[in-house]
Amino acid sequence: MSKVLIIGAGGVGQVVVTKCAQHPDVFTEILFASRTVSKCDKIVENIDHPNISTAAIDAEDVPALVKLMKSFQPKLVIHVALPYQDLTIMDACLECGVHYLDTANYEPKDEAKFEYSWQWAYQDRFKEAGLMALLGCGFDPGVTSIFTAHAAKHHFDEIHYLDIVDCNGGDHGKAFATNFNPEINIREITQKGRYWENGEWVETEPFEFKKELNYPNIGVRDSYLLYHEELESLVKNFPTIKRARFWMTFGQEYLTHLRVIQNIGMAGIEPIDYNGQQIVPLQFLKAVLPDPGSLGDNYVGETSIGCRIRGIKDGKEKTYYVWNNCSHKKAFEETGAQGVSYTTGVPAMIGAMMMLTDQWMKPGVYNVEEFNPDPFMEKLNAYGLAWNEEVGVDLEV
Ligand code: NDP
Repeated sequence: MSKVLIIGAGGVGQVVVTKCAQHPDVFTEILFASRTVSKCDKIVENIDHPNISTAAIDAEDVPALVKLMKSFQPKLVIHVALPYQDLTIMDACLECGVHYLDTANYEPKDEAKFEYSWQWAYQDRFKEAGLMALLGCGFDPGVTSIFTAHAAKHHFDEIHYLDIVDCNGGDHGKAFATNFNPEINIREITQKGRYWENGEWVETEPFEFKKELNYPNIGVRDSYLLYHEELESLVKNFPTIKRARFWMTFGQEYLTHLRVIQNIGMAGIEPIDYNGQQIVPLQFLKAVLPDPGSLGDNYVGETSIGCRIRGIKDGKEKTYYVWNNCSHKKAFEETGAQGVSYTTGVPAMIGAMMMLTDQWMKPGVYNVEEFNPDPFMEKLNAYGLAWNEEVGVDLEV
């Protein structure tokens, strides 16, 4: 039915290409492109699909992207390289008449700042071109936003309190590693925290607030308040929300490593001079840390990510918890990648499927919670990320 261009051969890209290849009726032709083409070649060696090819691309180079898109003529680009490339890929999509999907909002390289304003500014241009851009279609953002839309549609008249809880209860056996791109991950978690309360953002120090939360099938874990990008679109799209927060678990060993990394300056994003060469400390650190794509082999345990929600239904207060648990081992057996890549890549494939089958298709730039959550929720169950829900539960938050 449709040709798709997938950009970015990391852990997430590996899952996206594997999952798309399982649906050749929808993704009839796949071009898998990344900066290092040998990574694409290695991944597709193990993939069974009648029409799959690879290419080298620098996704920060708009003319190169335009050339690639004009020759392959995809209907959609699934962008799972890095957030630095969101705008260049959107520009090329506009020039070539191609729809767009990503899993992380744009971030300038020289400032760790996550907000949708840059991409929302493309709204009129996408509308006028008759093209759609679907933003943040991974797990968080992505499924957490769809869980919220599902809760708003089926469980509440008004959502008042939203707490997104993200636990990685897995163990990869390494002293220190990040579960997705280390540079992006460390930039994100070392920022000041932020949450929404009574119509405004409240800023916190990094790791200032901690709660012990109990996660299904995992147990109690220290969970820290962070800023996370889906909060921005969710409070806009669900204006009854009085407070929205995001919590992520971190072990003490991880936090100790992180503190040392910061204290010795290795989390810096300003270039420094080293023997006459400019290097960015955090980029150098990425080069010596384990590749997140290589963590799958011995990864045991599960992730558990969900939304804990309090609000009003039929005039009465109601609590609701919706979540998914994903086994690192099962993810690895199916796709060769660990659970964090899996929980990001599967929703990206489903979002692409929603667009290409016209279930979610309208010109403009959208966040995932702006569409009907029902067909997406069904596909989560069918394609590897089954979800659970409980009503009237103690939310602990
Ligand atoms: P990786 O670092 O493993 O992979 C990124 C890939 O992108 C690499 O193969 C890299 O190529 C490629 N790449 C980098 N720069 C360019 C460029 N200029 N042109 C072309 N390709 C490039 O990251 P992950 O797979 O772990 O994560 C991918 C994305 O998913 C990130 O944007 C991350 O923020 C997002 N994410 C979203 C989540 C969600 O739930 N919404 C959760 C986790 C991740 P090379 O190897 O040659 O450098």
